[in-house]
Amino acid sequence: MHTKSLKQLSALLQSRQVSATELAQHFLARIDTSDLNAFLHVDPELTLQQAAVADQRLACEDHTALTGIPIAHKDIFVTRDWRATAGSRMLANYTSPFDATVVERLGKAGMVTLGKLNCDEFAMGSSNQNSFFGPVRNPWDKNAIPGGSSGGSAAAVAARLAPAVTGTDTGGSIRQPAAMCGITGIKPTYGRVSRFGMIAFASSLDQGGPMAQSAEDCALLLSAMAGFDERDSTSLQRPDEDFSRDLNNDLRGLRIGVPREYFGPGLAADVELAVRAALADYEKLGATLVDISLPNTELSIPAYYVIAPAEASSNLSRFDGVRYGHRAEKYSDLTEMYKRTRAEGFGEEVKLRILVGAYVLSHGYFDAYYLKAQKIRRLIAQDFQQAFTQCDVIMGPVSPTVAWNLGEKADDPVANYLADIYTLSTSLAGLPGMSVPCGFGQGDINGKRPVGLQLIGNYFEEAKLLNIAHQYQQATSWHLMQPAD
Ligand code: GLN
Repeated sequence: MHTKSLKQLSALLQSRQVSATELAQHFLARIDTSDLNAFLHVDPELTLQQAAVADQRLACEDHTALTGIPIAHKDIFVTRDWRATAGSRMLANYTSPFDATVVERLGKAGMVTLGKLNCDEFAMGSSNQNSFFGPVRNPWDKNAIPGGSSGGSAAAVAARLAPAVTGTDTGGSIRQPAAMCGITGIKPTYGRVSRFGMIAFASSLDQGGPMAQSAEDCALLLSAMAGFDERDSTSLQRPDEDFSRDLNNDLRGLRIGVPREYFGPGLAADVELAVRAALADYEKLGATLVDISLPNTELSIPAYYVIAPAEASSNLSRFDGVRYGHRAEKYSDLTEMYKRTRAEGFGEEVKLRILVGAYVLSHGYFDAYYLKAQKIRRLIAQDFQQAFTQCDVIMGPVSPTVAWNLGEKADDPVANYLADIYTLSTSLAGLPGMSVPCGFGQGDINGKRPVGLQLIGNYFEEAKLLNIAHQYQQATSWHLMQPAD
């Protein structure tokens, strides 16, 4: 049951061959015996209540394609019924009075929540090692990180603990863990998916999206997740879309831009091999490869690591011990209460970013860092527009290497930042991007470590990206492979 696609599960539910309750029980049992640390909160009673409601809807034909299908949410989406910690001690006991729009929309479609998923603290990280609740293991190789920050999300789908999950991507956090765990994920155009109730990291970059086994599954989920939301001021005023509509278009004549800068010396040989093989598969499907250049790619790292911390320092100022979240027990006055609360509640990486953010926004440094970074951001966006005059889609690696070992790079923020080189520019430009499994690298001799192919489209071209990914998945079987139980 846990290996089935959403479409298959949907058919089984609607023909009453399986009930939502049975499905939920099946996945809950798998979660219960898992040692990956992917889930932070499960509440079987609550899950089964939702499943019972879904079963009633299925019985009276009041359902959508997603009714009765289990889903788990990254713990950065606030939920009324489950805690929402954002992977932080600051919110370790926090439960929201309302659901995030994404949670609400998927709930209305009839999806059944399995629980909440581990992630890097406030989504800051690329390995899930910054979670207050401990790292997540990669199901392909338990000595490896799952990627991050949506590491729990990716590991849960890869280990078939959930058929669908949500993630968020600020600079790669859907695409990179999807790549490292061998699953499929899409970060939509900025503004497609409501940020309301998504605990904010860097508001001009944060974007929620689905992660699942295949592009076809992601299309189904995105159609339910995306849409205008008046409670999010940057939500796009566009009509709802069926993102599955173009899945079966054939790819003859498709021009694939292959950016030179994505195949430089920093790219590991095993990753390059798998990505080039995928590009060759696309040629067999009728596409042509076009050499393109995204000249400011390298600058995406310094620009992102100025802009994201700047926004984070502002967003995280709300965690002061007054309104909600952690509050220090001992203090003599208000100022000391703030200081102790924040010193105790935030982890090292979060503190580092608050300091960097406050610094680059401060008087005297604003022009030199923040303003400069914003100008680079514009240049990066222009590079993409230039590239899209020559091609229909851009492809390359998601990450320069396969998943690294647990414990590795844990004390080296810069080493982590450099590994984001291929994902940050898409986020800075606000473009949609996907990760599709395309093979395995060497990794450790004991375990296989997956490689992801990145697809980048122009604004609002999610349906096209999903089509391009789906056609590849019809012709190959990487997305069907799964780690040993
Ligand atoms: N790795 C990047 C960072 O640490 C991106 C994280 C994300 O997309 N949330 O900020």
